[in-house]
Amino acid sequence: MEKSGRDQHKGELEAFWMPFTANRQYKSAPRLMTHAEGMYYQDDKGNSVLDGTAGLWCCNAGHSRKKITEAVSEQIAKMDFAPTFQMGHPLPFQLAERLSALTPDPLNRVFFTNSGSESVDTALKIALAYHRANGEPQRTRFIGREMGYHGVGFGGISVGGIGNNRKTFSGQLLSGVDHLQHTLDLDRNAFSRGLPQHGAERAEQLEQLINLHGAENIAAVIVEPLSGSAGVILPPEGYLERLRSITAKYGILLIFDEVITGFGRVGDAFAANRWKVTPDMMTTAKGLTNGSIPMGAVMVSDFIYEACMSGPEGVIELFHGYTYSGHPVAAAAALATLDIYEEEKLFSAADRMASVFEEAVHSLADCPNVVDVRNVGLVAGIQLAPSSEGIGKRGFAVFNRCFHAGTLVRATGDIIALSPPLILEADHIDQMVTTLAEAIRQSA
Ligand code: PMP
Repeated sequence: MEKSGRDQHKGELEAFWMPFTANRQYKSAPRLMTHAEGMYYQDDKGNSVLDGTAGLWCCNAGHSRKKITEAVSEQIAKMDFAPTFQMGHPLPFQLAERLSALTPDPLNRVFFTNSGSESVDTALKIALAYHRANGEPQRTRFIGREMGYHGVGFGGISVGGIGNNRKTFSGQLLSGVDHLQHTLDLDRNAFSRGLPQHGAERAEQLEQLINLHGAENIAAVIVEPLSGSAGVILPPEGYLERLRSITAKYGILLIFDEVITGFGRVGDAFAANRWKVTPDMMTTAKGLTNGSIPMGAVMVSDFIYEACMSGPEGVIELFHGYTYSGHPVAAAAALATLDIYEEEKLFSAADRMASVFEEAVHSLADCPNVVDVRNVGLVAGIQLAPSSEGIGKRGFAVFNRCFHAGTLVRATGDIIALSPPLILEADHIDQMVTTLAEAIRQSA
């Protein structure tokens, strides 16, 4: 049956089941972005919107960069796709080497994926494969952290600690997973600048889980160095170091999920570099291609790779991979992105701009209902008290007001997150914070 014009229009809005979106609310007042350049988006009505979130924590070099566009179009014209299994093409090899130079030693091996979720599930599988190859196949347990976000694969939601992502699927999550307590502590750490002073001792809970299950049964601990999606929860000073020393003591792998913290967000290439704590694996995505083409990568330590390579030659060492692992077009985008980061020295630019950003976001402490402001590098969380209408209502109202006033911020419940592109200048920070302050006041 033919659809009428009106139905067709409705159909266009209705057909797309939007991810992580209140579909019915959105479709009653859609917000559509059609163009982007540098620090700004443009919506379908031609309004300019300052990007306070680097897209979704990913467009670290700003939008629609010519160098990336050209690299992508050249690569598609030359070769769109190469069979991935038992076959290679040069770009992912070049990219892997470039990435290994950015990460701390011994994270020198790279497994390519298409997203952060795939990177996480890949890292968990590599952890199991490593222990099996290493003669400890009983090491199968994983430890994540409350409020952690590790994507939406079954592995990722199992080690993740955000209730809403798990509840619907609770009967089918991975077994043998425990969670450390999160590190949010408003009583002791509210309005900290940089890493909070208190709470490193929460890492010691790992010893309790080891006592409970036996270290010999635990494969890996996975944490975001800072929890982004849960509302920018920072690791207390010394916390990551303690996790590192406990995991090392017991032969448990430590995985940092650097999907958000990677590629300059905290003022260095990775959080591991910034805080000088080297995990055994690192998951990445987002900023790897500046958000332009889906791609993820798991950075793996030499000793893990070598253990997995110790079986008979000619046999596939890891039965895992994706049709698009190391896709030539994505690899071209990533190489061009790394060139931009390097040529424009964007990681140190982020570090330099961090103090201006810090001053500005902490000025929001004076606004009504602000119960915490926390920041590091070019990422900040502004936590608001929930309104009497319920949790998340004030956060959404602030997000909406900011959007209509021309600034994109991100609301997670009642926490507003800022993670602007690293190319921003002082007047962008001014605009972002002034708009946000006004929106918070109007939502009081
Ligand atoms: N890990 C972390 C820390 C993330 O922030 C995200 C995405 N926000 C993911 C994993 C999942 O990435 P993706 O959405 O690309 O699957």
